[in-house]
Amino acid sequence: MTVLEDPQGRRFPYLRLSVTDVCNFRCTYCLPDGWRPTGPMHFLSVPEIGRLVRAFAELGTWKVRLTGGEPTVRKDILEIAAMVSATPGIRKLAMTTNGYHLPQRAADYRAAGIDALNVSIDSLDPKSFARVTGHDRLDEVMAGVAAARAAGIAPIKINTVLLKGINDGELDAFLNLVRREDLSIRFIELMRTGDNAGYFARHHLSADDLRSQLIEQGWQVRPRAPGAGPAVEMSHPDYRGTIGLIAPYSKDFCKTCNRLRVTARGELQLCLFGDGGFDLRPLLQHEDQREELKARLLALLGHKKASHALHQNHTGRTPNLAFTGG
Ligand code: SAM
Ligand code: SF4
Repeated sequence: MTVLEDPQGRRFPYLRLSVTDVCNFRCTYCLPDGWRPTGPMHFLSVPEIGRLVRAFAELGTWKVRLTGGEPTVRKDILEIAAMVSATPGIRKLAMTTNGYHLPQRAADYRAAGIDALNVSIDSLDPKSFARVTGHDRLDEVMAGVAAARAAGIAPIKINTVLLKGINDGELDAFLNLVRREDLSIRFIELMRTGDNAGYFARHHLSADDLRSQLIEQGWQVRPRAPGAGPAVEMSHPDYRGTIGLIAPYSKDFCKTCNRLRVTARGELQLCLFGDGGFDLRPLLQHEDQREELKARLLALLGHKKASHALHQNHTGRTPNLAFTGG
């Protein structure tokens, strides 16, 4: 089988597919003023998504993550999930969500074929959670995590962006959670995007410092699993759960890159911090365009660069991660 491979020899079993730019939260580092339209709300339709995912699957992609914006604001999210999970070759369907209405919806997500969930929780303190997201919903989101587990979704991961002055005093609370529960917490280093330069300067914390702190407390780095994301996984014999560190500013972050992104409007993004997307939509209109679409994807991979340029403060075209699909 011809597979997606770039000039550096990296392969791409993992597609992160944004299904909408829209979000109902106002996270201070992402959409502090809430979501505002940046163009026509003409997001990929269910048949377009089907054609896209079939082409990727025929080129070796076996894991898809639905993201956004907030993917669950789409009324047809269950239809999308059911179709992607039923695509031949797709073995794992994950979704990243802010957890809105998760208690009521978790069982439906599972029934539609979602087998892994990342839920964003930046603080375990209800007031601080509300300040970051603009929503006093910590209890609902935590109940949603329990409901997802009860529905049989596994693994469940908590995404927590490291924020100086906001959640840096909460390490013990997060560690207590993984001591008790079989969860993975991914601590994500705040990324500088086009919109958040001032916020980044005030709140960025290095994940490397946290890593040293965890190693001092007896945490150990685990080997990387096939198809795994960019997180460095850590475990500790006294804890049921695990910790993942996502450190995009670390030296070798890009070496293990195994994912491609497609935006909600059908643009291929070769890198989260790349300069632009490649419009795939004209090739998503008919079933008989599949070979042409696959040839285009293979050709576009020739443009994928070895590394992002975040260290030179170059954030690419990404105004915020809701726009590109974080
Ligand atoms: N709305 C969903 C959510 O929040 O889970 C999915 C989309 S969101 C863009 C995906 C992830 O990116 C979330 O965990 C969010 O916390 C994270 N994120 C957003 N902006 C970020 C930034 N500037 N730096 C690091 N992580 C960010
Ligand atoms: Fe919305 Fe997710 Fe961005 Fe928060 S991080 S504003 S939930 S897209």
